[in-house]
Amino acid sequence: MKNNFTSDKYTKGRGKFSKRVYIKCVNCSEIIFNYQKEGNGAIEKLFFDNILDNFAIKKESKLICQKCEKVLGSRFIFGKDKKLAFKVYPGAIYYRIFVPERTVFKRG
Ligand SMILES: [Zn+2]
Repeated sequence: MKNNFTSDKYTKGRGKFSKRVYIKCVNCSEIIFNYQKEGNGAIEKLFFDNILDNFAIKKESKLICQKCEKVLGSRFIFGKDKKLAFKVYPGAIYYRIFVPERTVFKRG
């Protein structure tokens, strides 16, 4: 009984990770789109179903930064469910977690 509170807190905190993030270009820091990220690891694939804006990009065969025109990944079909996704080239993008009420952009 003594440990109930602590373990309960832990369990909740380690639940399914799903967060809204900004996908950004490593080359120029441009936001490519908002994305619903699942899991904690690095992003290797960007599933079309999880893209939250910039829907026009789903028509492209390559994931290309609109600002610097760097090619960041290419379209492929994943798994048995045939989910459309972009396979991200290693190190081409990074992400920032979306914070609804205090989103601060720092630009140099
Ligand atoms: Zn770029």
